[in-house]
Amino acid sequence: MPELPEVETVRRTLNQLIAGKTIECVTVTLPRILQKPDDPQAFAAMLEGRTFQSVERRGKFLRLVLDGVVLISHLRMEGRYGLYGKDEPVELHTHVRFSFTDGTELRYKDVRQFGTMHLFAPGDEWIAAPLNKLGLEPLDESFTLDEFTRVLARRTTKIKPLLLNQEVVVGLGNIYVDEALHAAGIHPETPASELKRKEHQKLHDAIVATLAAAVEAGGSSIKSYVNGQGEMGLFQHSLRAYGRTGEPCSECGTPIEKSVVGGRGTHVCPSCQKPPRGGGLTAVSVGAAKKRRSNAVKRRLDGVEQ
Ligand SMILES: [Zn+2]
Repeated sequence: MPELPEVETVRRTLNQLIAGKTIECVTVTLPRILQKPDDPQAFAAMLEGRTFQSVERRGKFLRLVLDGVVLISHLRMEGRYGLYGKDEPVELHTHVRFSFTDGTELRYKDVRQFGTMHLFAPGDEWIAAPLNKLGLEPLDESFTLDEFTRVLARRTTKIKPLLLNQEVVVGLGNIYVDEALHAAGIHPETPASELKRKEHQKLHDAIVATLAAAVEAGGSSIKSYVNGQGEMGLFQHSLRAYGRTGEPCSECGTPIEKSVVGGRGTHVCPSCQKPPRGGGLTAVSVGAAKKRRSNAVKRRLDGVEQ
């Protein structure tokens, strides 16, 4: 699933590819992608004749700004954009096509069909779902230590599920939460409210550094993720914890362990990331708990992790 660095890479690429292009017509072959308006004809009518001005991002949402309308697009599991010539054959799972006056076409492809698109009058996108409930933007100047501390101090939730909650901090998914917690030396099951000021600082800096490095590398290519120009990201080569089960920790050499926290596969160095006092399942007890899960749940989890 694309996380913030991957979406940022798509944003940059798309901005280069489509800024300045004017839409001649829009073809929708899978109406369920459209959330607002949900009628394909109304959706097309709001876009035709408009010009893409820039592609922005809020959390994992792309914000495509046109003259007079804003398109909010979420790629979810498998959504992809690509620029094609109008006459190029349309690939399977292409659901929305924006044909431009210059003979090119922006195509949205989505094998899993979970992606969404919303249209708004400019400015209205901030006061309605899905953007109105989003939390702190970690690569923005507004993500200060004080703001982050204020958010953490009130929550008794375990830190990992809290960081995955998009209403708290946006853009962090399973990969970068494991990476940031490892870099900060914090166990994923530590209740947020038990973290000390020093740990807030470490975690804040680790989130910013991890995401910035991943953006720089063009996003991770787990699940053979490909960005808008068909280039693979390079960040998977520098992962510290995620997906490195059994491999030595880059800090201390202890093998990385995998467990389940909040239903998500979680990678931890048992030496650098000490479990919270009086709580926290050990890797062994999590393993036993996992075995008790039904096979159906197991298959679903495995599917998500692969
Ligand atoms: Zn370690």
